[in-house]
Amino acid sequence: MDPHTLKAVLRCPVCHRPLRAATTLPCGHTVCAHHPTVPCPLQHCAPPAGPARPRIPPTSRVNYLPAPAAPPVPQPPQAALKLDVTVNKIIALLDSVLADDDDDDGSPPTTPTVRYRPDSDSGPSRPRKRQRMVHPESDDEDDDLLSHLRANAAREREEADEPNLEKELQTELSCEICFTLLYNPVTTPCQHTFCSKCLHRALDHSNLCPLCRDELPGFSFFDDHPTNQTLETLLVTAFPVDYIARGDAIAAEERDARLDTPIFVCMLIFPGHPTALHFFEPRYRLMLRRCLEQDVPSFGMIMPARPGAPPSDYGTMLEVRSVQMLADGRSMVETWSTYRFRILERGTLDGYTVARIERIDDVPDSPSLGLPLPGGPSNEQLMDTCTQFLQQLRRGTAPWVVQRLNNVYGAPPTDPAQFAYWVALVLPIDEFEKAKLLPIRSTHLRLRMVVQWIEQLSNNWWFTSGCVIF
Ligand SMILES: [Zn+2]
Ligand SMILES: [Zn+2]
Ligand SMILES: [Zn+2]
Ligand SMILES: [Zn+2]
Repeated sequence: MDPHTLKAVLRCPVCHRPLRAATTLPCGHTVCAHHPTVPCPLQHCAPPAGPARPRIPPTSRVNYLPAPAAPPVPQPPQAALKLDVTVNKIIALLDSVLADDDDDDGSPPTTPTVRYRPDSDSGPSRPRKRQRMVHPESDDEDDDLLSHLRANAAREREEADEPNLEKELQTELSCEICFTLLYNPVTTPCQHTFCSKCLHRALDHSNLCPLCRDELPGFSFFDDHPTNQTLETLLVTAFPVDYIARGDAIAAEERDARLDTPIFVCMLIFPGHPTALHFFEPRYRLMLRRCLEQDVPSFGMIMPARPGAPPSDYGTMLEVRSVQMLADGRSMVETWSTYRFRILERGTLDGYTVARIERIDDVPDSPSLGLPLPGGPSNEQLMDTCTQFLQQLRRGTAPWVVQRLNNVYGAPPTDPAQFAYWVALVLPIDEFEKAKLLPIRSTHLRLRMVVQWIEQLSNNWWFTSGCVIF
Protein backbone atom coordinates (compact mmCIF):
# COMPACT_ATOMS: atom_id res chain seq x y z
CA MET A 1 0.00 0.00 0.00
CA ASP A 2 1.70 3.13 -1.22
CA PRO A 3 0.86 6.31 0.68
CA HIS A 4 2.00 8.45 -2.26
CA THR A 5 -0.53 6.84 -4.58
CA LEU A 6 -3.25 7.38 -1.99
CA LYS A 7 -2.13 10.95 -1.41
CA ALA A 8 -2.41 11.57 -5.16
CA VAL A 9 -6.11 10.67 -4.93
CA LEU A 10 -6.60 13.29 -2.24
CA ARG A 11 -6.12 16.28 -4.53
CA CYS A 12 -8.49 19.18 -4.76
CA PRO A 13 -10.19 19.18 -8.17
CA VAL A 14 -10.33 23.01 -8.03
CA CYS A 15 -6.76 24.08 -7.20
CA HIS A 16 -5.18 20.70 -8.08
CA ARG A 17 -3.11 20.83 -4.90
CA PRO A 18 -3.28 18.35 -2.03
CA LEU A 19 -6.64 18.82 -0.29
CA ARG A 20 -6.44 21.04 2.77
CA ALA A 21 -9.33 21.34 5.21
CA ALA A 22 -11.54 19.40 2.80
CA THR A 23 -15.31 19.63 2.67
CA THR A 24 -17.65 17.47 0.60
CA LEU A 25 -20.46 19.16 -1.31
CA PRO A 26 -23.90 17.68 -2.00
CA CYS A 27 -22.72 16.96 -5.58
CA GLY A 28 -20.18 14.48 -4.19
CA HIS A 29 -17.13 16.66 -4.95
CA THR A 30 -14.60 17.16 -2.18
CA VAL A 31 -12.78 20.49 -2.31
CA CYS A 32 -10.66 22.69 -0.03
CA ALA A 33 -13.12 24.55 2.18
CA HIS A 34 -11.57 27.94 1.39
CA HIS A 35 -12.89 27.84 -2.17
CA PRO A 36 -16.33 29.33 -2.64
CA THR A 37 -18.65 26.34 -2.43
CA VAL A 38 -22.02 27.73 -3.59
CA PRO A 39 -22.47 26.58 -6.25
CA CYS A 40 -19.88 23.85 -6.65
CA PRO A 41 -16.70 25.63 -7.83
CA LEU A 42 -16.02 22.97 -10.44
CA GLN A 43 -16.86 24.03 -13.94
CA HIS A 44 -19.34 21.69 -15.57
CA CYS A 45 -20.12 19.99 -12.24
CA ALA A 46 -22.36 17.17 -13.33
CA PRO A 47 -22.63 14.72 -10.47
CA PRO A 48 -23.25 11.15 -11.54
CA ALA A 49 -26.59 9.69 -10.54
CA GLY A 50 -26.32 8.33 -7.04
CA PRO A 51 -26.89 4.74 -6.04
CA ALA A 52 -30.64 5.28 -6.18
CA ARG A 53 -32.83 3.19 -3.94
CA PRO A 54 -34.63 1.13 -5.02
CA ARG A 55 -33.22 -0.02 -8.34
CA ILE A 56 -36.40 -0.79 -10.19
CA PRO A 57 -35.82 -3.26 -13.04
CA PRO A 58 -36.76 -1.92 -16.49
CA THR A 59 -39.21 -4.81 -16.86
CA SER A 60 -41.16 -3.79 -13.75
CA ARG A 61 -44.72 -2.59 -14.36
CA VAL A 62 -44.89 -0.62 -11.15
CA ASN A 63 -45.83 3.00 -11.50
CA TYR A 64 -43.11 4.47 -9.27
CA LEU A 65 -43.50 8.13 -8.40
CA PRO A 66 -40.40 9.42 -6.60
CA ALA A 67 -40.80 11.94 -3.82
CA PRO A 68 -40.93 15.57 -4.93
CA ALA A 69 -37.40 16.97 -5.27
CA ALA A 70 -36.01 17.92 -1.89
CA PRO A 71 -35.56 21.64 -1.37
CA PRO A 72 -31.91 22.67 -1.66
CA VAL A 73 -30.10 22.57 1.64
CA PRO A 74 -28.84 26.04 2.49
CA GLN A 75 -25.05 25.97 2.55
CA PRO A 76 -23.62 27.44 5.74
CA PRO A 77 -21.47 30.56 5.41
CA GLN A 78 -17.89 29.82 4.41
CA ALA A 79 -16.58 30.33 7.93
CA ALA A 80 -19.05 27.84 9.40
CA LEU A 81 -18.43 25.22 6.73
CA LYS A 82 -17.95 21.79 8.27
CA LEU A 83 -15.02 19.66 7.20
CA ASP A 84 -15.29 16.14 5.83
CA VAL A 85 -14.46 14.02 8.86
CA THR A 86 -13.26 10.92 7.01
CA VAL A 87 -11.29 12.67 4.27
CA ASN A 88 -9.45 14.94 6.70
CA LYS A 89 -8.59 12.07 9.05
CA ILE A 90 -7.11 10.17 6.13
CA ILE A 91 -5.14 13.22 4.99
CA ALA A 92 -3.71 13.51 8.52
CA LEU A 93 -2.89 9.80 8.59
CA LEU A 94 -1.09 9.87 5.25
CA ASP A 95 0.73 13.08 6.15
CA SER A 96 2.09 11.52 9.32
CA VAL A 97 3.26 8.44 7.43
CA LEU A 98 4.87 10.49 4.69
CA ALA A 99 6.49 12.83 7.21
CA ASP A 100 8.13 9.82 8.88
CA ASP A 101 9.35 8.57 5.54
CA ASP A 102 10.68 11.99 4.60
CA ASP A 103 12.58 12.12 7.87
CA ASP A 104 14.19 8.83 6.95
CA ASP A 105 15.51 10.12 3.66
CA GLY A 106 16.17 13.65 4.67
CA SER A 107 14.45 14.72 1.47
CA PRO A 108 10.99 14.18 0.04
CA PRO A 109 10.84 11.13 -2.20
CA THR A 110 10.39 11.89 -5.86
CA THR A 111 9.00 8.52 -6.89
CA PRO A 112 6.37 6.50 -5.08
CA THR A 113 7.95 3.68 -3.13
CA VAL A 114 6.49 1.06 -0.90
CA ARG A 115 7.60 2.17 2.49
CA TYR A 116 4.96 1.18 4.89
CA ARG A 117 5.07 -2.16 6.63
CA PRO A 118 2.20 -4.24 5.26
CA ASP A 119 -0.04 -6.27 7.48
CA SER A 120 1.61 -9.57 6.63
CA ASP A 121 5.17 -10.41 7.52
CA SER A 122 6.03 -11.26 3.94
CA GLY A 123 6.49 -7.69 2.76
CA PRO A 124 9.41 -5.39 3.29
CA SER A 125 9.76 -4.14 6.80
CA ARG A 126 11.28 -0.81 7.52
CA PRO A 127 11.28 0.56 11.01
CA ARG A 128 10.81 4.23 11.37
CA LYS A 129 13.34 6.74 12.43
CA ARG A 130 12.25 6.96 16.03
CA GLN A 131 12.58 3.22 16.31
CA ARG A 132 16.02 3.24 14.78
CA MET A 133 17.12 5.61 17.52
CA VAL A 134 16.56 2.91 20.10
CA HIS A 135 18.15 0.09 18.13
CA PRO A 136 21.50 -0.45 19.69
CA GLU A 137 22.38 -3.03 17.06
CA SER A 138 22.78 -0.20 14.61
CA ASP A 139 25.58 0.97 16.84
CA ASP A 140 28.71 -0.89 15.71
CA GLU A 141 30.38 -0.43 19.06
CA ASP A 142 27.71 -2.38 20.93
CA ASP A 143 28.19 -6.12 20.55
CA ASP A 144 27.08 -7.17 23.97
CA LEU A 145 24.69 -10.14 23.61
CA LEU A 146 22.38 -9.08 26.42
CA SER A 147 21.98 -5.57 25.03
CA HIS A 148 21.37 -7.06 21.67
CA LEU A 149 18.56 -9.27 22.95
CA ARG A 150 17.06 -6.43 24.92
CA ALA A 151 17.15 -4.27 21.87
CA ASN A 152 15.49 -6.96 19.80
CA ALA A 153 12.71 -7.31 22.35
CA ALA A 154 12.26 -3.55 22.47
CA ARG A 155 12.06 -3.42 18.69
CA GLU A 156 9.50 -6.20 18.56
CA ARG A 157 7.43 -4.41 21.15
CA GLU A 158 7.59 -1.20 19.22
CA GLU A 159 6.84 -2.87 15.93
CA ALA A 160 3.78 -4.44 17.50
CA ASP A 161 2.62 -0.97 18.52
CA GLU A 162 3.54 0.61 15.22
CA PRO A 163 0.52 1.95 13.46
CA ASN A 164 -0.17 0.02 10.32
CA LEU A 165 -1.28 2.10 7.38
CA GLU A 166 -3.53 -0.55 5.91
CA LYS A 167 -5.23 -1.24 9.21
CA GLU A 168 -5.65 2.41 10.10
CA LEU A 169 -6.92 3.25 6.66
CA GLN A 170 -9.39 0.41 6.89
CA THR A 171 -10.62 1.77 10.20
CA GLU A 172 -11.04 5.27 8.80
CA LEU A 173 -12.81 3.89 5.72
CA SER A 174 -15.28 1.83 7.74
CA CYS A 175 -18.93 2.73 7.97
CA GLU A 176 -20.03 3.58 11.51
CA ILE A 177 -23.34 1.82 10.93
CA CYS A 178 -22.31 -1.57 9.50
CA PHE A 179 -18.69 -1.50 10.75
CA THR A 180 -17.39 -2.79 7.44
CA LEU A 181 -15.66 -1.12 4.52
CA LEU A 182 -17.72 1.78 3.18
CA TYR A 183 -19.66 0.92 0.06
CA ASN A 184 -21.10 3.69 -2.14
CA PRO A 185 -20.00 6.24 0.46
CA VAL A 186 -22.41 9.13 0.88
CA THR A 187 -21.39 12.19 2.87
CA THR A 188 -24.04 14.11 4.82
CA PRO A 189 -24.11 17.90 5.19
CA CYS A 190 -22.68 17.35 8.71
CA GLN A 191 -19.75 15.77 6.83
CA HIS A 192 -20.12 12.24 8.14
CA THR A 193 -19.89 9.40 5.66
CA PHE A 194 -21.88 6.17 5.57
CA CYS A 195 -22.62 3.47 3.02
CA SER A 196 -25.53 4.70 0.93
CA LYS A 197 -27.60 1.66 1.90
CA CYS A 198 -26.81 2.03 5.60
CA LEU A 199 -27.74 5.72 5.55
CA HIS A 200 -31.11 4.95 3.98
CA ARG A 201 -31.82 2.36 6.62
CA ALA A 202 -30.83 4.78 9.36
CA LEU A 203 -33.16 7.40 7.84
CA ASP A 204 -36.02 4.90 7.99
CA HIS A 205 -35.74 5.21 11.76
CA SER A 206 -34.67 8.78 12.36
CA ASN A 207 -33.80 12.01 10.59
CA LEU A 208 -30.77 12.53 12.80
CA CYS A 209 -27.19 11.77 11.80
CA PRO A 210 -26.31 8.43 13.43
CA LEU A 211 -22.99 9.92 14.57
CA CYS A 212 -23.43 13.56 15.56
CA ARG A 213 -27.26 13.66 15.89
CA ASP A 214 -27.42 16.69 13.59
CA GLU A 215 -30.72 16.92 11.79
CA LEU A 216 -30.36 15.60 8.25
CA PRO A 217 -32.27 17.03 5.28
CA GLY A 218 -34.56 13.99 5.02
CA PHE A 219 -35.03 10.87 3.02
CA SER A 220 -35.67 12.35 -0.42
CA PHE A 221 -32.49 14.47 -0.23
CA PHE A 222 -30.50 11.22 -0.13
CA ASP A 223 -32.80 9.33 -2.48
CA ASP A 224 -30.46 9.57 -5.44
CA HIS A 225 -27.52 11.24 -3.75
CA PRO A 226 -24.13 11.19 -5.49
CA THR A 227 -21.43 9.29 -3.69
CA ASN A 228 -18.35 10.98 -2.26
CA GLN A 229 -16.16 10.65 -5.34
CA THR A 230 -12.85 11.21 -3.55
CA LEU A 231 -13.58 8.52 -0.98
CA GLU A 232 -14.92 6.14 -3.59
CA THR A 233 -11.71 6.52 -5.64
CA LEU A 234 -9.68 6.06 -2.47
CA LEU A 235 -11.58 2.87 -1.59
CA VAL A 236 -11.08 1.44 -5.06
CA THR A 237 -7.37 2.39 -5.01
CA ALA A 238 -6.57 1.19 -1.50
CA PHE A 239 -8.82 -1.86 -1.26
CA PRO A 240 -9.76 -2.91 -4.81
CA VAL A 241 -10.41 -6.54 -3.97
CA ASP A 242 -12.25 -5.84 -0.72
CA TYR A 243 -14.38 -3.17 -2.35
CA ILE A 244 -15.55 -5.51 -5.12
CA ALA A 245 -16.15 -8.22 -2.52
CA ARG A 246 -18.30 -5.78 -0.52
CA GLY A 247 -20.42 -5.06 -3.58
CA ASP A 248 -20.80 -8.77 -4.29
CA ALA A 249 -21.74 -9.48 -0.67
CA ILE A 250 -24.41 -6.77 -0.70
CA ALA A 251 -25.81 -8.07 -3.99
CA ALA A 252 -25.88 -11.61 -2.59
CA GLU A 253 -27.60 -10.40 0.58
CA GLU A 254 -30.27 -8.67 -1.49
CA ARG A 255 -30.70 -11.77 -3.65
CA ASP A 256 -31.11 -13.93 -0.55
CA ALA A 257 -33.61 -11.44 0.81
CA ARG A 258 -35.73 -12.02 -2.29
CA LEU A 259 -35.62 -15.82 -2.08
CA ASP A 260 -38.27 -15.88 0.60
CA THR A 261 -41.61 -14.15 0.41
CA PRO A 262 -41.73 -11.00 2.52
CA ILE A 263 -44.76 -10.88 4.77
CA PHE A 264 -46.56 -7.73 5.83
CA VAL A 265 -48.48 -8.41 9.03
CA CYS A 266 -51.30 -5.91 8.82
CA MET A 267 -54.86 -6.93 7.94
CA LEU A 268 -57.15 -9.48 6.35
CA ILE A 269 -57.21 -9.23 2.57
CA PHE A 270 -59.10 -11.44 0.12
CA PRO A 271 -57.96 -12.05 -3.47
CA GLY A 272 -59.19 -9.87 -6.30
CA HIS A 273 -59.31 -6.50 -4.56
CA PRO A 274 -57.40 -3.24 -4.64
CA THR A 275 -55.88 -2.13 -1.35
CA ALA A 276 -54.14 1.14 -0.61
CA LEU A 277 -51.47 0.93 2.06
CA HIS A 278 -49.39 3.45 3.91
CA PHE A 279 -45.82 2.30 4.49
CA PHE A 280 -44.31 4.08 7.45
CA GLU A 281 -42.76 1.48 9.75
CA PRO A 282 -38.98 1.32 9.19
CA ARG A 283 -38.93 -2.44 8.66
CA TYR A 284 -41.67 -2.31 6.04
CA ARG A 285 -40.05 0.63 4.27
CA LEU A 286 -36.99 -1.56 3.80
CA MET A 287 -39.20 -4.49 2.77
CA LEU A 288 -40.90 -2.35 0.13
CA ARG A 289 -37.58 -1.10 -1.30
CA ARG A 290 -36.46 -4.69 -1.65
CA CYS A 291 -39.78 -5.68 -3.24
CA LEU A 292 -39.50 -2.94 -5.81
CA GLU A 293 -36.26 -4.44 -7.10
CA GLN A 294 -38.20 -7.49 -8.28
CA ASP A 295 -39.68 -7.84 -11.76
CA VAL A 296 -43.13 -8.31 -10.26
CA PRO A 297 -43.02 -6.63 -6.86
CA SER A 298 -45.27 -8.46 -4.46
CA PHE A 299 -45.48 -9.45 -0.83
CA GLY A 300 -47.72 -11.54 1.35
CA MET A 301 -50.24 -10.03 3.73
CA ILE A 302 -51.44 -11.77 6.87
CA MET A 303 -53.53 -10.62 9.80
CA PRO A 304 -51.91 -9.87 13.13
CA ALA A 305 -52.36 -12.74 15.56
CA ARG A 306 -54.98 -12.63 18.27
CA PRO A 307 -53.35 -11.79 21.61
CA GLY A 308 -51.80 -14.96 22.96
CA ALA A 309 -52.59 -16.96 19.82
CA PRO A 310 -50.10 -18.19 17.22
CA PRO A 311 -49.80 -16.08 14.07
CA SER A 312 -51.99 -16.95 11.13
CA ASP A 313 -50.61 -19.30 8.49
CA TYR A 314 -52.93 -18.09 5.75
CA GLY A 315 -52.70 -14.88 3.79
CA THR A 316 -52.99 -13.25 0.40
CA MET A 317 -50.33 -12.06 -2.00
CA LEU A 318 -50.45 -8.40 -2.93
CA GLU A 319 -48.94 -7.15 -6.17
CA VAL A 320 -47.62 -3.60 -6.00
CA ARG A 321 -49.21 -1.48 -8.70
CA SER A 322 -48.07 2.02 -7.86
CA VAL A 323 -45.89 3.72 -5.29
CA GLN A 324 -45.93 7.38 -4.36
CA MET A 325 -42.85 8.16 -2.32
CA LEU A 326 -43.12 10.96 0.22
CA ALA A 327 -40.27 13.29 1.06
CA ASP A 328 -39.64 11.70 4.46
CA GLY A 329 -39.34 8.15 3.10
CA ARG A 330 -42.90 7.05 3.82
CA SER A 331 -44.96 5.97 0.85
CA MET A 332 -48.50 5.41 -0.34
CA VAL A 333 -48.77 2.10 -2.13
CA GLU A 334 -51.57 0.77 -4.30
CA THR A 335 -51.79 -2.98 -4.51
CA TRP A 336 -53.94 -5.67 -6.05
CA SER A 337 -54.49 -8.90 -4.17
CA THR A 338 -53.73 -11.87 -6.40
CA TYR A 339 -53.76 -15.29 -4.73
CA ARG A 340 -53.98 -16.96 -1.36
CA PHE A 341 -51.11 -18.80 0.30
CA ARG A 342 -50.23 -20.93 3.27
CA ILE A 343 -47.04 -20.38 5.23
CA LEU A 344 -44.91 -23.53 5.36
CA GLU A 345 -41.96 -22.03 7.19
CA ARG A 346 -41.30 -18.61 8.60
CA GLY A 347 -38.32 -16.56 9.64
CA THR A 348 -37.30 -12.98 10.26
CA LEU A 349 -35.21 -10.73 8.08
CA ASP A 350 -34.18 -7.27 9.28
CA GLY A 351 -37.22 -7.05 11.53
CA TYR A 352 -39.93 -8.26 9.18
CA THR A 353 -41.31 -11.75 8.61
CA VAL A 354 -40.23 -13.79 5.60
CA ALA A 355 -41.71 -17.13 4.70
CA ARG A 356 -41.65 -20.09 2.42
CA ILE A 357 -45.19 -20.31 1.13
CA GLU A 358 -47.42 -22.56 -0.93
CA ARG A 359 -50.08 -21.15 -3.16
CA ILE A 360 -53.68 -22.08 -2.44
CA ASP A 361 -56.02 -22.46 -5.40
CA ASP A 362 -59.57 -23.71 -5.60
CA VAL A 363 -60.18 -27.28 -6.56
CA PRO A 364 -63.15 -27.38 -8.99
CA ASP A 365 -66.34 -28.52 -7.27
CA SER A 366 -67.50 -31.82 -8.69
CA PRO A 367 -70.00 -34.53 -7.76
CA SER A 368 -67.06 -36.92 -7.24
CA LEU A 369 -66.00 -34.63 -4.37
CA GLY A 370 -69.60 -34.54 -3.14
CA LEU A 371 -69.98 -30.87 -4.10
CA PRO A 372 -72.40 -29.22 -4.25
CA LEU A 373 -73.97 -31.31 -1.53
CA PRO A 374 -76.70 -33.52 -2.96
CA GLY A 375 -80.09 -31.99 -2.25
CA GLY A 376 -78.48 -28.78 -0.98
CA PRO A 377 -78.59 -25.33 -2.53
CA SER A 378 -76.66 -24.64 -5.71
CA ASN A 379 -74.03 -21.89 -5.97
CA GLU A 380 -76.61 -19.67 -7.69
CA GLN A 381 -79.09 -20.17 -4.86
CA LEU A 382 -76.46 -19.35 -2.27
CA MET A 383 -75.49 -16.20 -4.18
CA ASP A 384 -79.18 -15.23 -4.35
CA THR A 385 -79.47 -15.56 -0.58
CA CYS A 386 -76.52 -13.22 -0.19
CA THR A 387 -77.89 -10.72 -2.70
CA GLN A 388 -81.28 -10.68 -0.98
CA PHE A 389 -79.64 -10.10 2.37
CA LEU A 390 -77.61 -7.19 0.99
CA GLN A 391 -80.72 -5.72 -0.61
CA GLN A 392 -82.48 -6.01 2.72
CA LEU A 393 -79.61 -4.10 4.28
CA ARG A 394 -79.81 -1.46 1.57
CA ARG A 395 -83.54 -0.99 2.12
CA GLY A 396 -83.35 -1.20 5.84
CA THR A 397 -81.01 -0.01 8.44
CA ALA A 398 -77.81 0.72 6.66
CA PRO A 399 -78.09 1.53 2.97
CA TRP A 400 -74.69 3.18 3.11
CA VAL A 401 -73.10 -0.18 3.88
CA VAL A 402 -73.84 -1.54 0.44
CA GLN A 403 -73.07 1.82 -1.11
CA ARG A 404 -69.68 1.79 0.54
CA LEU A 405 -69.07 -1.72 -0.69
CA ASN A 406 -69.90 -0.68 -4.24
CA ASN A 407 -67.69 2.37 -4.02
CA VAL A 408 -64.70 0.67 -2.49
CA TYR A 409 -64.81 -2.74 -4.07
CA GLY A 410 -66.82 -2.20 -7.25
CA ALA A 411 -69.97 -4.01 -8.30
CA PRO A 412 -70.56 -7.50 -6.93
CA PRO A 413 -68.53 -10.01 -8.92
CA THR A 414 -70.48 -12.41 -11.07
CA ASP A 415 -67.80 -15.08 -10.64
CA PRO A 416 -69.04 -17.37 -7.82
CA ALA A 417 -65.40 -17.96 -6.83
CA GLN A 418 -64.99 -14.25 -6.00
CA PHE A 419 -68.51 -13.56 -4.77
CA ALA A 420 -68.11 -14.89 -1.22
CA TYR A 421 -65.06 -12.67 -0.59
CA TRP A 422 -66.95 -9.60 -1.73
CA VAL A 423 -69.91 -10.34 0.55
CA ALA A 424 -67.65 -11.16 3.48
CA LEU A 425 -66.06 -7.74 3.26
CA VAL A 426 -69.24 -6.01 4.35
CA LEU A 427 -70.55 -8.43 6.96
CA PRO A 428 -70.26 -7.08 10.50
CA ILE A 429 -68.54 -10.11 11.89
CA ASP A 430 -65.20 -10.76 13.49
CA GLU A 431 -62.22 -10.53 11.12
CA PHE A 432 -60.81 -13.78 12.50
CA GLU A 433 -64.07 -15.47 11.57
CA LYS A 434 -63.87 -14.03 8.05
CA ALA A 435 -60.30 -15.29 7.76
CA LYS A 436 -61.71 -18.83 7.80
CA LEU A 437 -62.51 -18.28 4.10
CA LEU A 438 -58.82 -18.21 3.21
CA PRO A 439 -57.99 -21.93 3.47
CA ILE A 440 -61.20 -23.09 1.75
CA ARG A 441 -60.46 -24.52 -1.70
CA SER A 442 -64.07 -24.94 -2.80
CA THR A 443 -66.20 -22.13 -4.22
CA HIS A 444 -69.30 -23.88 -3.00
CA LEU A 445 -68.10 -24.34 0.57
CA ARG A 446 -67.01 -20.71 0.67
CA LEU A 447 -70.49 -19.57 -0.36
CA ARG A 448 -72.05 -21.85 2.24
CA MET A 449 -69.88 -20.36 4.94
CA VAL A 450 -70.94 -16.82 4.02
CA VAL A 451 -74.61 -17.84 3.95
CA GLN A 452 -74.18 -19.44 7.36
CA TRP A 453 -72.89 -16.11 8.71
CA ILE A 454 -75.84 -14.35 7.11
CA GLU A 455 -78.26 -16.78 8.79
CA GLN A 456 -76.62 -16.18 12.15
CA LEU A 457 -76.80 -12.42 11.69
CA SER A 458 -80.46 -12.62 10.66
CA ASN A 459 -81.23 -14.51 13.85
CA ASN A 460 -79.59 -11.94 16.08
CA TRP A 461 -82.01 -9.44 17.60
CA TRP A 462 -79.38 -6.66 17.69
CA PHE A 463 -78.72 -6.99 14.01
CA THR A 464 -82.30 -7.08 12.82
CA SER A 465 -83.25 -4.27 15.18
CA GLY A 466 -80.85 -2.02 13.32
CA CYS A 467 -78.05 -1.60 15.82
CA VAL A 468 -75.34 -2.36 13.33
CA ILE A 469 -72.17 -0.69 14.34
CA PHE A 470 -69.26 -0.63 11.93
ZN1 LIG B 1 -8.36 23.45 -3.46
ZN1 LIG C 1 -19.62 19.45 -7.88
ZN1 LIG D 1 -22.36 0.70 6.10
ZN1 LIG E 1 -23.14 13.86 11.43
